Amino acid sequence: MPTVFKFGGASIKDADAIRHLTPLIEAHADRPLVVVVSAMGKTTNKLETLLASARDDGRKDAYRDCFDALQAEHREAIESLFGDASDSPRERVDVLFEELDTQHRKHRDAPYAKHYDQTVCYGELISTTIVAAWLNHCGIATDWHDARELVRTDACHQSANLDWTATADAIRGRLAGSERVILTQGFIGGTEQSEATTLGREGSDFSAAIFAHCLDAHEVVIWKDVTGLFNADPRRFDNAVQLERLSYAEATELAWHGAKVIHPKTLGPLQEKSIPLMVRSFETPEAAPSVIDAERRFDAEVPCCILREKQVWLEVLPRDFAFMDEPRQHDILGRLVEAGLHANLIDSSAMRFALCLDDKPERLETLIDSLENDYELRREDRLTLLTVRHPRPGMMDALSEGREALAERRNATTAQRLFHSDDCPETWHIPEAR
Ligand code: ASP
Ligand code: MG
Repeated sequence: MPTVFKFGGASIKDADAIRHLTPLIEAHADRPLVVVVSAMGKTTNKLETLLASARDDGRKDAYRDCFDALQAEHREAIESLFGDASDSPRERVDVLFEELDTQHRKHRDAPYAKHYDQTVCYGELISTTIVAAWLNHCGIATDWHDARELVRTDACHQSANLDWTATADAIRGRLAGSERVILTQGFIGGTEQSEATTLGREGSDFSAAIFAHCLDAHEVVIWKDVTGLFNADPRRFDNAVQLERLSYAEATELAWHGAKVIHPKTLGPLQEKSIPLMVRSFETPEAAPSVIDAERRFDAEVPCCILREKQVWLEVLPRDFAFMDEPRQHDILGRLVEAGLHANLIDSSAMRFALCLDDKPERLETLIDSLENDYELRREDRLTLLTVRHPRPGMMDALSEGREALAERRNATTAQRLFHSDDCPETWHIPEAR
């Protein structure tokens, strides 16, 4: 049965990192092995900057500079890996950069999301071209596959929806039974009209799950620069610990509440076919991974803390002293959906309906413009939402350290509090269970 490996940007950020990948793949002799790869390092962010300057007439120089810098970084990695070797992918990668430039010219007046997908996909097309050439150079028989032809989607650019039937046909038809390493791109797909699409930022995890689902994989391994999943972001909590085992459902909850663990869409396709997901470190591959599977027994063992920063608290109040009843809530939530926003916490009372939202300025403006016509609004900015899954008694209070909470919510498994970011510490500490 096939295995699917996923390597994110950090694991292929430069030539050294790519060299590091070879033994991990060599050590896995079973075929088929599908290897899903992201763009190198921070390439996707840089492509987004490039896109912004391509759409702005006044920033032609910025476009050139960005473009040249990105090409130079990739050339440097190729040079370091291959030197003058005849199998260097230098020319193929140069062609891809030319295509990228052409796509910018062609789409610069198109809607942003379409322009985005036709250009940002090159991060992955280029990185995989380099990695495939490198594996072959090292004697690992590898085929490069274009995910735009395999991951079939609708034309909802930047968050394309999968056509599962067409995808399964394409993936099974082309990849099943391969004796070689199958190397392909995460994050990207394509429409029936052969236009590139993307699955949303950090979407490579989801891509790995799509390939695993369609090929009935035996397991998925996400290779990261940390040894697994943690119960809190180790950069923000000084006593975060690794989670050994959790269920698909719990991992989905954590991702939903904002833990930057795994793309939230990843778990569904794996859960349907009971395919376990391992999160391992490419730096210390011998370390025990975090395992996500159907077993729910361990979910409540370790409380998990999640911070969502840059939050906005929007209180919606009636102008007519009427109740904020279900028809009104329905109306407000409808406008929220139309603006493309998601509420991280909702609090309602007789004459107030309040929402905690990510600070996405354009979308917020759309929502506020719409609501202002009919309601009174109050807004607070610069907030931090703390979510604790499976809190122990007293834990939320200890974490709050007496700071004022603007809002609070609690159910059997989850506690949330919203604070002013200025009141929050740079480094948090998870209190001992009592
Ligand atoms: N390269 C894409 C991103 O940075 C997809 C991914 O890494 O998963 O969002
Ligand atoms: Mg990434």
